[in-house]
Amino acid sequence: MTFETFSFHPSISANIKRLGYQTPTPIQCQAIEPVLGRRDVMGLAQTGTGKTAAFMLPLLQGFLDRPSGTSRVPRALVVAPTRELAEQIHKAALDLGRGLRFRSATIYGGVSMNPQIRALRQGVDLIVACPGRLLDHLRQGNVTLSSVETVVLDEADHMFDMGFLPDIRKILAALPKKRQTLLFSATMPTAIHSLAREILTDPVIVRAQCEKPVETISHAIYPVAPTGKTPLLLHLLREHAERSVIVFTKTKHRAKKLAVLLENAGHKATSLQGNLSQNRRQEAMDGFRRGAYRVLVATDIAARGIDVSQVGHVINYDIPDTPEAYTHRIGRTGRAERTGQAHTMVTREDMSMVRAVERLLGKPLQRL
Ligand code: AMP
Repeated sequence: MTFETFSFHPSISANIKRLGYQTPTPIQCQAIEPVLGRRDVMGLAQTGTGKTAAFMLPLLQGFLDRPSGTSRVPRALVVAPTRELAEQIHKAALDLGRGLRFRSATIYGGVSMNPQIRALRQGVDLIVACPGRLLDHLRQGNVTLSSVETVVLDEADHMFDMGFLPDIRKILAALPKKRQTLLFSATMPTAIHSLAREILTDPVIVRAQCEKPVETISHAIYPVAPTGKTPLLLHLLREHAERSVIVFTKTKHRAKKLAVLLENAGHKATSLQGNLSQNRRQEAMDGFRRGAYRVLVATDIAARGIDVSQVGHVINYDIPDTPEAYTHRIGRTGRAERTGQAHTMVTREDMSMVRAVERLLGKPLQRL
């Protein structure tokens, strides 16, 4: 399948080319057509599979196919769990929609309401929002959602983990009953399954082959004593000096401390963890994307949904708590079929988690 199959508007096709997308990813092959056809879609896909473009390209095409009248009203709403993911989706909309006359705004907490109110008043076609702040705006009457034609719930399982389901139900209640609903989730816990049954009408179910991101990634584990972790990390960073690295730790405190230690050891490193202000988080993310920092030390929550396509290595300084968190972390590398490596430091207590990860991957992890 090629992108030509979908007969996108020439501007959209040009943007796809400019971004260097050659062929649609599996989730795009399956989802674009039904989304264009205004069907409800349940997408089982994690970050790194190209799921954002899978819903954004048809949304943008929809803006062109069904031009709005004279007043600019929100026609599509994307709800995402974190501000980083919201910013990323907004950026994807601007990249994929360059040259189209549409406006997109991001809405999330931790920053001032006023610029968001101004943006909403000026009129937007697309809103990319985190649930809490969007509800604040709804309650204050800064926005109405009665014109929304399509709603996308992205990373629904994370929104559930973060306790956002009640907020999401309130948001859905503010939308027209007759609408298109797209639900994306990497996993299908019972709560998401019931939500899907409740809010989707005759959905098309699409899945990104789970093996795909994993196939291009090599995994290795390093049995090590707790005191051996830092020397090993320094060694790995020297050995793989050419590519960007995300290092995962289990706590915010460890992330911060480790980033300082790496900086003192001469690495261009920074940390991304929940204690940072929004500005500092943005600065860390932008700096990492631009390459001003080569090493990003992060916690799971802070790194959720982050898309950094050039990440070559993920180093689990601390093993994650669940096998799903493992696939999530390593989803940051080997994106869109680039190769990546996942390195995990394991102490004696971590062996049962290693076995759980091996069961999930269906293969043993290489011991180094
Ligand atoms: P996502 O899963 O939406 O976070 O996308 C992961 C990364 O893949 C992003 O950097 C996208 O720009 C990139 N991407 C999306 N679709 C394609 C494609 N068809 N070919 C190459 N890269 C893509």
